Amino acid sequence: MGTRMDILDKSPAEIVEILKQIGEQGFRGKQVVNWLYKGIEDFDDMTNLPMTVRTKLRERYVIGRVNQMEKIVSDKGDTIKYLCLLHDDNIIEDVVMGYDYGNTLCLSTQVGCRMGCSFCESTRQGLIRNLEVGEMVAQVLMANTDMGTVGTGERNIRNIVLMGSGEPLDNYDNVVKFLRLIHDPETLNIGYRNITLSTCGLVPGIRRLADEDMPITLAISLHAPNDKLRRRIMPAASAYGILEIVEAAKYYFERTGRRVSFEYSLMDGINDGSDEAMELGKLLGDFPCHVNVIPINTIEGAPYNRSPEARIQLFEKNLRSAGIQVTRRRELGQDIGGACGQLKSGYLNDFDGESFS
Ligand code: SAH
Repeated sequence: MGTRMDILDKSPAEIVEILKQIGEQGFRGKQVVNWLYKGIEDFDDMTNLPMTVRTKLRERYVIGRVNQMEKIVSDKGDTIKYLCLLHDDNIIEDVVMGYDYGNTLCLSTQVGCRMGCSFCESTRQGLIRNLEVGEMVAQVLMANTDMGTVGTGERNIRNIVLMGSGEPLDNYDNVVKFLRLIHDPETLNIGYRNITLSTCGLVPGIRRLADEDMPITLAISLHAPNDKLRRRIMPAASAYGILEIVEAAKYYFERTGRRVSFEYSLMDGINDGSDEAMELGKLLGDFPCHVNVIPINTIEGAPYNRSPEARIQLFEKNLRSAGIQVTRRRELGQDIGGACGQLKSGYLNDFDGESFS
């Protein structure tokens, strides 16, 4: 990208400042913001701006984008997976899921991940790098543009889940700036209630997020009811104990009024027994929260299998009888490798012969 900066890293207020710095009035900044979030990819297409302004902007900035390399639509047509190339040839994945209440984008916050969860594909190669604010914005614009309805249509992305590759709280500042940015009525106007951030349980980050005055939904990947088991499957569990995590979740609820979701991926014979369900019920007690049960998506080389349906249902039943609200994650995109934990960014870099097409 050379020395020019990505203008998508900037908030509307910062863009107004940029325009002032090049000798223009503030309203020009609003015009620029308007074009950017319509999905315009070239300053020259900002037709209500004088040529001189467009030139000055082009000299200093680029409009960053993620370049769609591949688009895979599920058999049922309700899930689309995109492979996108970044300016430095790294690759990330995005998934769009169609729901009755609008399209949801599952986006990536890092290239790779350093959390090391043993059942997750995205972490296998460790962390390559954090994504910039503009690279997260560009993922949303790419999806909106691809659906052909930028700025007008019903089919725009209405909901965002930070469940692609990466640990969002490990890229804290960029993620929070990105969320504030897309929430802004001048950009995409995405409601905080329509945003879910999923974390493997980084306690300081959860507490900090609680104080941001940004009432998004927090999802915490628990996957086990106690530290011993959790540490076996998630290395991050060694840094933060489960009781600390539940305390942080309670703090989040107190500060934001938003119910926390706990993610629980069921692995046959590992964490899916009645004992574990009971223990989880006890742990969460009367804390108003949800448990989101996800049958594990098997990935190559990991020793985990999907629990049989009867066992999944029994687990859910046990939790319900402990007074816990349980939902089963709708399973979308498995046939296109677009389901939770199946995303594998950087696949071209390691040429391991695997293909998504
Ligand atoms: N780093 C964040 C986001 C990860 S992806 C986090 O840890 O929460 C979102 C969810 O998918 C997490 O709950 C993650 O634990 C889960 N997940 C990862 N691999 C999975 C797999 N193979 N099957 C089912 N869920 C998986």
